[in-house]
Amino acid sequence: MNIIDNHQPTAKLQALDAAHHLHPFTDTAQINARGTRVITQANGVYLTDSDGHKLLDGMAGLWCVNIGYGRTELANTAARQMSQLPYYNTFFQTSHPPVIELASLLARLAPGDLNRVFLAGSGSEANDTNIRFVRHYWASLGKPDKSVIIARKNGYHGSTIGAASLGGMSAMHAQGGMPIPGIEHISQPYWYREGGDSSPEEFGLACARELEETIERLGEENVAAFIAEPVQGAGGVIIPPETYWPGIQRICDAHEILLIVDEVICGFGRTGNWFGCQTFDIRPDIITIAKGMSSGYQPIGGSIIREEIAEVFADRGGEFNHGYTYSGHPVACAVACENLRILEEEDIVGNVANVTAPYLREKWLSLGDHPLVGEARIIGMMGALELTPEKSSRKPFAGEEGAAGLICREHSFSNGLVMRHVGDKMIISPPLVISRSEIDELVEMAHKSLDQAYADLKQQGLMQVSR
Ligand SMILES: *Cc1c(COP(=O)(O)O)cnc(C)c1O
Repeated sequence: MNIIDNHQPTAKLQALDAAHHLHPFTDTAQINARGTRVITQANGVYLTDSDGHKLLDGMAGLWCVNIGYGRTELANTAARQMSQLPYYNTFFQTSHPPVIELASLLARLAPGDLNRVFLAGSGSEANDTNIRFVRHYWASLGKPDKSVIIARKNGYHGSTIGAASLGGMSAMHAQGGMPIPGIEHISQPYWYREGGDSSPEEFGLACARELEETIERLGEENVAAFIAEPVQGAGGVIIPPETYWPGIQRICDAHEILLIVDEVICGFGRTGNWFGCQTFDIRPDIITIAKGMSSGYQPIGGSIIREEIAEVFADRGGEFNHGYTYSGHPVACAVACENLRILEEEDIVGNVANVTAPYLREKWLSLGDHPLVGEARIIGMMGALELTPEKSSRKPFAGEEGAAGLICREHSFSNGLVMRHVGDKMIISPPLVISRSEIDELVEMAHKSLDQAYADLKQQGLMQVSR
């Protein structure tokens, strides 16, 4: 007997959802008035809803279903592990095969001497671990004041209080008393919106220099770490100018601070390499992982730490008073291992780099010619379109930010494509296994949605530039 019934009438599911389920990142009154779309099944890159509509998932769930839906190997692995050992903890001098296998697999896959793994249940938890870890690291070296973490405006590092404080999302900070003390935010390398008259290269360097200025202003003896995503995802697929990461790396090398690279989206193939830090030639001390690590089939996240730092931490730190009940959960670890096996054995990352990402790139960039699009940008399997009322000036719409993006997203869903909007940017991050014909379909539906949104915006008088 299965308690979950996929075949109830949509209206009944929607009514129960509205009555009892509070959704994340959602205006509850608004969605309850309109009714949720109930997803009942998925296979490959396609979702099916409770009315039988098929949708191409251009977002891989929330940037996570890297190997695509419906891989029964992962389901079988979970079932096997659940019967063998559904749960045990790793706190009190105990361990188990799935966590041991996953940690060694991650150490092999991660670049350089990123060899020590601390596991969590999500990316947010992993970033909370990072805050605790870097502060305790410096304290155990006799530098307890070295505790400030520098992060970036419009960065995203998760939604727990610690992770959301590292993040630079002003709408999140406006609720619940964030950020917590000891976190400083510097500019994001978002040339399209914030670069003004400078070239992307100049702007990238200027943003990097802000890290150095901030370290100097706070005093190097007070700064523990800098954290950033290689490419900002939730902020709107913001691909930094080419000068940015070399500049940041130089500054981190010249100062005694730790570099935390949040690979929760970029990790596991998204940018065309196993990790975003390889795409940008960054040498992190710690990386945050989650999402694509299990392709979302099980909730799991973690931090991978450089050997040398983990050694010092082990020698000097004593007991680390931190951990989660589900750190290294056996079922999540087993499923993550199976996901990584598939990614590796089927050379999914290589196929992205050599075949599908270049194909998607050419098609996606051609959307930049659309009259509603100010810039099309893409790296690997993550792309964005800047909607604009005026191509030449990069100026935003006069009306409320995000209104145009929402109109375009609604058309996109109606056309059968899950494309997300972040303000007036349209973004995609499809499963890494998307084929060329599915890419054709994605870009065709995106193009049609742009046409429809453009017609609506003109008709509603919304193609006005903010002055
Ligand atoms: C999604 C995300 C997180 C948070 O991960 P959760 O699993 O949602 O807690 C952290 N960092 C980045 C870059 C993310 O995209």
